[in-house]
Amino acid sequence: MLQMGSEKANLPPHVLIFPLPIQGHVNSMLRLAELLCLAGLDVTYIVSDFCHNRLLTHTNVSSHFARYPGFSFQTISDGLPDDHPRAGEGFVDIMPAIKMVTGPLFKRMMIEKGCFASSGARSPVTCIIADGVLSFAGDFAEENGIALIYFRTVSACSFWACFCMPQVIEAGEIPLKGHGMELAVKSVPGMENILRRRDLPGFYRVDDLDDTTFQIIKTETQQTPRAQAVILNTFEDLEGPILSHIRKHMPRLYTIGPNHFHLTARLGAKATETETLISSASLWEEDRSCLDWLDSQPPKSVIYVSFGSITVVRREQLLEFWYGLVNSGQRFLWVVRPDSIMGEAGGGKIPAELETATKARGYMVGWAPQLEVLNHPSVGGFLTHGGWNSTLESMAAGVPMLCWPYFADQTINSRFVSEIWKIGLDMKDTCDRVIIQKMVAELMHARKDEFLRRADAMAKLARKAVTQGGTSYNNLDSLVEFIESTII
Ligand code: UDP
Repeated sequence: MLQMGSEKANLPPHVLIFPLPIQGHVNSMLRLAELLCLAGLDVTYIVSDFCHNRLLTHTNVSSHFARYPGFSFQTISDGLPDDHPRAGEGFVDIMPAIKMVTGPLFKRMMIEKGCFASSGARSPVTCIIADGVLSFAGDFAEENGIALIYFRTVSACSFWACFCMPQVIEAGEIPLKGHGMELAVKSVPGMENILRRRDLPGFYRVDDLDDTTFQIIKTETQQTPRAQAVILNTFEDLEGPILSHIRKHMPRLYTIGPNHFHLTARLGAKATETETLISSASLWEEDRSCLDWLDSQPPKSVIYVSFGSITVVRREQLLEFWYGLVNSGQRFLWVVRPDSIMGEAGGGKIPAELETATKARGYMVGWAPQLEVLNHPSVGGFLTHGGWNSTLESMAAGVPMLCWPYFADQTINSRFVSEIWKIGLDMKDTCDRVIIQKMVAELMHARKDEFLRRADAMAKLARKAVTQGGTSYNNLDSLVEFIESTII
């Protein structure tokens, strides 16, 4: 058994935070780290060398976190060479590599460093908050008597739909085998009248139930209840009915989101004018010139287009989007990530002809300061892949969404955006210039007022949740108390 607990009674709890090393997870858990630092806890944030190098290159995280003496970074290999693609097809290699390489390395590191033994100023690790898909961190916590909390970076609806995988298999509703995609899914409690098979999280889209990623997601999700607590980046007014189902299996469930909004709310009170708040934890260099371009556009006239950090598109799909956007007559700001065009070995640069022909009404960048863009008065809609961070960021900014999901939780998030929260449209499983043009027009013109009204109401609920007395605000306080109570 490793040394546990605070050696000196007056030392704060020391939390180890361990995200899956990809953009959306790193962002979300770094925000959690800062929320815990603000509450006076010590935090070690363990992240892959690959992400750490990029964070140091592209953000102010290191100077920003210097204000918290109890915070430190620890780095570890993600098991892949630096030049291995981490988007598109390359993404599926991440989980197996982490399991095989990072898991054993983590164990060795924790033992060799005596769980980051007491330094005098900090106690050894008293609690591990691991990404819920890193069960090896849970094994380590259990084997060594350290408190374990899982953090799931996805929506509650996606987490619940994955938690129900055994029932969905049992009911014979998968494998999908490409047909019956319109059939209703009946075996996920609470979603009987909501989901078609095509709306299930993308992990379900396998012909063979032995598929490696499907099996990893199923196993990792099933083991969640062994943690003493679970944190979700959502809020009660958004996903209350689904959260009730989850709580039957995981009663100590803290919803503290939207994390970025919560952090701004808590920091807002403390920030001085000269302090720069961390606005992103970007793994790519942000092109801030788009903010100047937005400054010169009319209010709510621009549709912001971004498909997150993992989505890749084929060149034909890129062109369908381009024609759809241009033919819609709408102004647009479009993020085309350097590695986002499939099979473009030249770094997937934005094709020159598109960039030139876009100049009249559009602006293209390789990576945007997304939070600032979504909160810019010129932005009136978001054509998004429906990643959970992007969805929450759009909601908090009161921006309606047109979703084009790529995989994972995005396929169910987009269903909830359109059918449950009614703050946008779902364009899944199609990529056609005429449909794109029509749906952009619907979002930005025909049904603009309706969507803006609902999105604004949702933003108000999100704000209420993270304001003093709100559910996420109170849950974060309870989470901190729980972490303090776990010191032995
Ligand atoms: N993001 C950004 N600039 C961009 C595109 C994305 O800062 O140009 C950020 C975005 O704000 C979000 C994250 O990258 O926090 C993407 O996470 P999400 O869960 O939406 O999607 P994923 O990348 O995991 O598919």
